[in-house]
Amino acid sequence: MQVFRYSQAHTVDAAVQNAARSGGAFIAGGTTLVDLMKLNVLQPQSVVDINGLPLDRIETLPNGGLRIGALVRNSDLASNQTVQQQYAVLSQALLSGASPQLRNMATTGGNLLQKTRCYYYRDTNYPCNKRQPGSGCAALDGFNRIHAVLGGSDHCVATHPSDMAVAMMALEATIHTRGSKGERTIALDEFYLVPGSTPDRENLLLPGELITHVTLPALASGTRSVYLKLRDRAQYEFALASSAVVINVSGGAVQRARIAFGGVGTKPWRSREAENALEGQPATSETFHRAAEAAMAGAKPLKYNAFKIELAKRALIRTLTETTQSA
Ligand code: SF4
Repeated sequence: MQVFRYSQAHTVDAAVQNAARSGGAFIAGGTTLVDLMKLNVLQPQSVVDINGLPLDRIETLPNGGLRIGALVRNSDLASNQTVQQQYAVLSQALLSGASPQLRNMATTGGNLLQKTRCYYYRDTNYPCNKRQPGSGCAALDGFNRIHAVLGGSDHCVATHPSDMAVAMMALEATIHTRGSKGERTIALDEFYLVPGSTPDRENLLLPGELITHVTLPALASGTRSVYLKLRDRAQYEFALASSAVVINVSGGAVQRARIAFGGVGTKPWRSREAENALEGQPATSETFHRAAEAAMAGAKPLKYNAFKIELAKRALIRTLTETTQSA
């Protein structure tokens, strides 16, 4: 582990200035950063501890939406009454991730910025364009069972590991940031970048820019939502395929649907193809199968992960069936 400077910030402005000045990384729960520093995958010169910032509240907004501070712990967000009642998909996604101990530490902002679980990214003996640009990608010809079938490139095929972000994608969340140039508001759908030729750049955050909070819009009356995660074991495991559905059904037809997948894309993967195949159509098994086919029509399997395409289709069909039963 490389030697680094440690400091604590007690205001957002101080945190941003400190990180900008020192080229430092923010640390909150540390559940990703510390692991990767120990592995020498990440080697920040300085670490700015932001646990003292007043960003740990969950508040209902005047428009009926929800504001979630970046330091709200995953376990607190999952057990929040408003989240459980109005944004069930988010609570379910959070509870499907990691372990209780990790959820007690991990934060909303950190979860959004989780690093991939690609084995080759985490092992400095292998080439990895995300860790070291231009070095190559060991996964392309390696054991790529856990890698992406959507959004990959010749430079990187790593999946984004977050469950929470998949649920937030289906909820059309917005990210709010503060940087040295001021505040920014970014739709989550636009926040993440596909790898292209620069897999080291994963999102729109600038150096030293801090996520301060996330907002969720109010959902229309009658909205239902579900998260389903499929994985190799029942607990403490990352998704091979997951599906988040936020849907309104009325008179037997789908009025509005927001669909996102985890475990299959290089970013939390919103599927407008599935949404278009659902909206205005009868809420039937035939429609759900068509939506699943549409969602995966552009999938490109690697040597070991073709099974993910069928798995993701089944995950979507099951979540759609569950959310629309007796609606
Ligand atoms: Fe690195 Fe991406 Fe290739 Fe994994 S898939 S080795 S993260 S470049």
